[in-house]
Amino acid sequence: MKVLTKELWFQTRQRREFINITRMVEDLVKQSGVRDGLCLVNAMHITASVFINDDESGLHRDFDRWLEKLAPYQPVSQYDHNNGEDNADAHLKRQIMGREVVVAVTDGKLHFGPWEQIFYGEFDGRRRKRVLVKIIGE
Ligand code: ZN
Repeated sequence: MKVLTKELWFQTRQRREFINITRMVEDLVKQSGVRDGLCLVNAMHITASVFINDDESGLHRDFDRWLEKLAPYQPVSQYDHNNGEDNADAHLKRQIMGREVVVAVTDGKLHFGPWEQIFYGEFDGRRRKRVLVKIIGE
């Protein structure tokens, strides 16, 4: 069995940002030499997500507005968690958008459905944070 484990680092300029990481993951699948297997991609921080959806900027603004309605950043004092921190909203947003994705690898490629792309979702950014990628198979 072949295995590749890699951590990708991100530092966003904005507090909240979505980054398409599909190419980076595809490169790792190539590096792994796996033709048939599974690829796990997970955020290593509890205020960030990894998810699959469309790479369409209108949709990303819709996600952001929707999340901000569900768990508004302000007022910071509305959350019990914000007792010396200000990121309770980011924990809640992460929970909705998810921790990880698993994509099948077939013929050495990520086996996506139509329009599927992998995103890193940052909800409490402007500092260095990691995503773990693990690819296993034959
Ligand atoms: Zn926190």
